[in-house]
Amino acid sequence: MDEFQETDEWLEAEMGDEEMNSCCLGDLVVIINTRGAVPTAKGAYPVRYGLYGEIRTRAFAFHFNPTGEIRYMRGLTQAWPHPWEWLKRSWGNDWVYYSVGLDRGQGRVKEWVGEDYLPCLSYESNAIREVTPYTEPGIASSFSAWSQVYGTLCTSNLEGLTEEMRDFVERVIRKNDDNTLMAQAEDLHGIIGGRVSVLPPDTRRVDYEVIPVNIADGCLYKCRFCTVKSRAPFAPKTDTEIAEQIEALKGFYGSNLQNLNAIFVGDHDALAAGIERISFAATLSYEAFGFERPQGGTPSLFLFGSAGSFLSSDEATFERLEALPYKVYINLGLESVDGPTLKELGKPITPEMVRDSLYKMVRVNERYPGVEVSANFLLGTTFSDPHRETLMTLLSELPESARKKGCVYLSPLVETQRREEVLPMFHEMKEKSVISVYVYLIQRL
Ligand code: SF4
Repeated sequence: MDEFQETDEWLEAEMGDEEMNSCCLGDLVVIINTRGAVPTAKGAYPVRYGLYGEIRTRAFAFHFNPTGEIRYMRGLTQAWPHPWEWLKRSWGNDWVYYSVGLDRGQGRVKEWVGEDYLPCLSYESNAIREVTPYTEPGIASSFSAWSQVYGTLCTSNLEGLTEEMRDFVERVIRKNDDNTLMAQAEDLHGIIGGRVSVLPPDTRRVDYEVIPVNIADGCLYKCRFCTVKSRAPFAPKTDTEIAEQIEALKGFYGSNLQNLNAIFVGDHDALAAGIERISFAATLSYEAFGFERPQGGTPSLFLFGSAGSFLSSDEATFERLEALPYKVYINLGLESVDGPTLKELGKPITPEMVRDSLYKMVRVNERYPGVEVSANFLLGTTFSDPHRETLMTLLSELPESARKKGCVYLSPLVETQRREEVLPMFHEMKEKSVISVYVYLIQRL
């Protein structure tokens, strides 16, 4: 089988460290202390972040966290769909396939999602197109190849290896049986009080690599249509609970913290928990997670807000957010600017609140360089014409300054019948809008 020709860019990102060390273990090549790009770097090729270890066969490369868990897989032969595509395992133990898209070479993926890759999830979500990479033979075989590699490691004699190399291989053996990986994800969910059912869409900017810090459970509205809401009433956490959580997260991530540079302050409406709690969690996380290290660049902080919590946030709140040592991204769930649609969705806000929120978003984005607000609306063939028309009018009449910063995400409802009609709808909306528009893919952690 022919191996792909790797680009100089790729090699530079992958092999930029003098401490890198490699050896052979039977047919496997083991490489440790590979240093990828800084945590915030991104590119049109598959950049790897931070420090990682690697095991290669002739056909596949497998990457591991500093603590040993498998993180990435990609094929090295023509059987793999594209040399720039890869599989990533999240901290919630889900596999995500990064596709360059169905319309390769036309730059379409970047237009839809704002990034060079389309994340294809291995669980049910709101995908705008039917993409099932997991059934492609080249991709499916990476999972069996990984099982084989793991079996080989478990039965290999490690005595001839250097101590550092043996430590790495033993760590990989210890951390990667299915039960251990599942238990680790459960530990993370246990610390923060449950799985993160949805990450803010802006976390795409850091490749969804966020440490979740939960400062409040639930949300204000409990909208009828919402599939990701928590049933529990909105309940902010105490400073003690937040501090204990951050301490536990520091222990959970351990040496992986050097590869991370962003937090998600949850849950569904952290803005409603108040600026004191947000600042407390942000400041404590900054120290505990070592975000002051220079190689990471400015860390990012992501949170959700609602029309209610955003409209009641005063200038002092935004000044405090601006003063945090983070770039702050607030994402608002607005859904529709059409009264009957809001009613049908069971979302207890008015079209006036939606309009006011969007115009306030543009003002905040203009005024505070360190704060960026985005908003979500729903998209789908089951919505009425007034839903689409009022939204199109609203987006097309925004002030010109909205072009410079912030964006609107259109979230497709889960559709099985007329999914192919959703993308043209999105393109029409995007064309008419003053502000950038992207598709919102619901990703969990
Ligand atoms: S859409 Fe947002 S506010 Fe409404 S129930 Fe879901 S999480 Fe809560």
